[in-house]
Amino acid sequence: MVGAGAVGLACAVRLLEAGHRVDVVARDLPLETTSAVAAAIWYPFRAYPFERVTAWSRTTYAALETLSRLDGTGVRMLAGTELHRSRQADPWWRDAVPALTRVGSPGPPYVDAWTFVAPVVEMPTYLPWLAGRVEQLGGTLTRMAVTALPDQADVVVNATGLGARRTADDPSLLPVRGQVVYVEQVGLDRWWLDGAGPTYVVPRSHDIVVGGTEDEGEWDRRPDPDVAKRILANATALVPPLARARVLGHKVGLRPARPEVRLEAEDGARGRVVHCYGHGGAGVTLSWGCADEVAALVG
Ligand SMILES: Cc1cc2nc3c(=O)[nH]c(=O)nc-3n(C[C@H](O)[C@H](O)[C@H](O)COP(=O)(O)OP(=O)(O)OC[C@H]3O[C@@H](n4cnc5c(N)ncnc54)[C@H](O)[C@@H]3O)c2cc1C
Repeated sequence: MVGAGAVGLACAVRLLEAGHRVDVVARDLPLETTSAVAAAIWYPFRAYPFERVTAWSRTTYAALETLSRLDGTGVRMLAGTELHRSRQADPWWRDAVPALTRVGSPGPPYVDAWTFVAPVVEMPTYLPWLAGRVEQLGGTLTRMAVTALPDQADVVVNATGLGARRTADDPSLLPVRGQVVYVEQVGLDRWWLDGAGPTYVVPRSHDIVVGGTEDEGEWDRRPDPDVAKRILANATALVPPLARARVLGHKVGLRPARPEVRLEAEDGARGRVVHCYGHGGAGVTLSWGCADEVAALVG
């Protein structure tokens, strides 16, 4: 397994559960990855094609719901509201959630809204839990940057996210920069999402993640103070109690965006490679569905 983000670790767990030996190598350890920056709410965002993404999202919803019942995973099921300023059809991923309720009159400036319960994943807890699970099942995790995929394994799984520009020589992968602000918890127990922007407010146990941006093709990982001000202003308009929340920190991550998630096996002179990258803004949301498919392709 090359890659130790949310995708690589979920794949490693499913492969170990299926009885394979798995060694994970990664340039960045779990808490240093893009995955560590994710908000991370279950939400199919900037990932394609719709049909496969809906199926992977549905599987992941169920898997995360199961994890939410275990201690120490960092996964919680939280109700929240998505708001829109124009009338909307049901979201394309509607079938991936067990229930979604339309809100009659959300109030200006919004004219449409729906609520649903979503898994919210606290990445600082979840990623170490996943890494621990890999080790508990007998896998290994080693820091190692590779310039090419290894050729000394029966099967190599390529879960290098944006790194697949190099590991799979894939120029169709592009960063979609996301900036977030962490603020203190002010008693929020629901998530909020404004379809325009996008603006999102995701409460965690000890803080609140406020976003965001989607800057296509932008590689700069430095938080921009002006952007942070705009994010906070938009979020406070959406959730007024945030006005009294102290700012705790800033982060930027580069979403690995691709016209379509690449999940397929490639058989070459050096053996079988299963590629699993390009999850855009939904790597956490798709991870367990993709992991099941990767395990099936490994055989
Ligand atoms: C601000 C922000 C908010 C987000 N919010 C959400 C959300 O709410 N819900 C959601 O589902 N998703 C969200 N995302 C998207 C999500 O973070 C990504 O889709 C996800 O992290 C992709 O996971 P990954 O495991 O494929 O990649 P990564 O987390 O980037 O992991 C890639 C791994 O591959 C390794 N690697 C790369 N190249 C090499 C190499 N050459 N050699 C060795 N190792 C290598 C890296 O070191 C790393 O370990 C958000 C993203 C951002 C930036």
